[in-house]
Amino acid sequence: MTTLISHWIDGQAHPGTPERVGDVTNPATGRVTGQVAFAGPDEIEAAVASAKKASLDWGRTSVSARAQVVFRFRELLNSRKDELARIITSEHGKVHSDALGEVARGQEVVEFACGIPHLLKGGNSPQVSTGVDVKSIRQPLGVVGIISPFNFPAMVPMWFFPVAIAAGNAVVLKPSEKDPSAANWMAALWREAGLPDGVFTVLHGDKVAVDGLLDHPDVASISFVGSTPIAEYVYERASRAGKRVQALGGAKNHMVVLPDADLDLAADAAVSAGYGSAGERCMAISVVVAVGDTGDELVAKIAERTGTLVIGDGADAPQDIGADMGPLVTKVHRDKVASYVDAGAAEGATLVVDGRAVDAKGEADGFWLGPTLFDHVTPEMSIYTDEIFGPVLSVVRAETYAEALDLINANKYGNGTAIFTSNGGAARAFETDVQVGMIGVNVPIPVPMAYYSFGGWKASLFGDTHAHGAEGVHFFTRGKVVTTRWPDPATAGGLELAFPKNS
Ligand code: NAD
Repeated sequence: MTTLISHWIDGQAHPGTPERVGDVTNPATGRVTGQVAFAGPDEIEAAVASAKKASLDWGRTSVSARAQVVFRFRELLNSRKDELARIITSEHGKVHSDALGEVARGQEVVEFACGIPHLLKGGNSPQVSTGVDVKSIRQPLGVVGIISPFNFPAMVPMWFFPVAIAAGNAVVLKPSEKDPSAANWMAALWREAGLPDGVFTVLHGDKVAVDGLLDHPDVASISFVGSTPIAEYVYERASRAGKRVQALGGAKNHMVVLPDADLDLAADAAVSAGYGSAGERCMAISVVVAVGDTGDELVAKIAERTGTLVIGDGADAPQDIGADMGPLVTKVHRDKVASYVDAGAAEGATLVVDGRAVDAKGEADGFWLGPTLFDHVTPEMSIYTDEIFGPVLSVVRAETYAEALDLINANKYGNGTAIFTSNGGAARAFETDVQVGMIGVNVPIPVPMAYYSFGGWKASLFGDTHAHGAEGVHFFTRGKVVTTRWPDPATAGGLELAFPKNS
């Protein structure tokens, strides 16, 4: 028995057209657990029309009333996060503790959005000229589209929708078709929190649904997160349709280890950030740059640690096997990542740990691949040039800090990076000189807190606005400046045809 995962339109499940559906699998068992509806023109139209209607009243609802709904959503999410984490594990495969971490990081953005009355305060300049005041205000855009990837089915949508909704917009979310159920769970939670029907819509599907949102004249903006080729496509197509677009793309995150670093700390960090969530994180470390003579010792420490990891079904119930790392999201993706292991070995990198021979604690048909470690990787190899998005860590050797920096700056991606060192001066120089959006100093996954903004540089972001924080508020609102004159009744009147100037 499989279940149908419906769209969510106008505050309720909407089954869509039965001819267009996609399979959803549990990656730990390989079994199909559901079918997700794929939107066609009718569902796209229904979703946007419902959102447009709802946006009119919601945008005029007082900012305090909107904030109260966001507070209630936060309370419900916090009390039921375990349910959401289990849904994530069942369709994505990440282990339960990691899924809880994902929900917690999304919840931080909800908490940030609870402060929307403060965040929407405008400027006010009284008496800029005699009897003239100027103020700035920000208003919602209307209907905003969010298109999200498989790897964070709850957190990535939450990078955007709490701020968008709090600011007075109606959201149409197109989640990944690989793990669609988290979006429906969050939609039902919004309803329980008192959000009016139509303010949060879920439109499931593939390219048809995405293109429908990109082209629709009633969708004012697009927030996209996914791979670089699709991010670039989305940016170009939606921009051409006159929308405001932020399109976050792929990554190849380097971690530089200087000779003065604590190598145990660095090895722990490389393993946690390289293999957490099976490497399916846009902020995963996929390249370790060992500077000077650190290489041999560091590789040995990383390899030793990979041997302690438990690979298995990440659901902690009914039986907790204590898995550190779950399966990959689909069989196709698992096979693609495994083909990079073949390619790396063929291209001459040293295969130190081979994940293809994994002994996973899970069903035989799960999409398993163990942690894989390559040493002596060089920049021409495909395991270096391509975003693999799996548990494959490459170690590149560099003679000097300058060589390591040049390597990162020459890379087409610029999402995250980290430096491990005990030298404050080197860390400070790195912060200044590296061409990357998010930087960690002795922190391998430097995901900014919700009140800062998340985003990369170069091919990791198309558009100039990062997610959440002040940039998120700016993205989901547009500004007006109002100039007002209330003349003093005692002195008003008289003609003045010269160009108005301050007096
Ligand atoms: P993806 O690009 O395949 O899919 C992302 C979204 O685009 C999905 O909703 C999907 O349905 C849709 N889509 C896919 N192909 C499309 C097409 N041809 N036309 C229109 N829409 C299409 O990405 P994914 O595999 O789901 O996610 C992994 C990728 O996302 C990785 O590259 C990862 O680095 C990236 N990512 C980036 C960030 C970031 O912050 N920069 C965060 C998370 C994930």
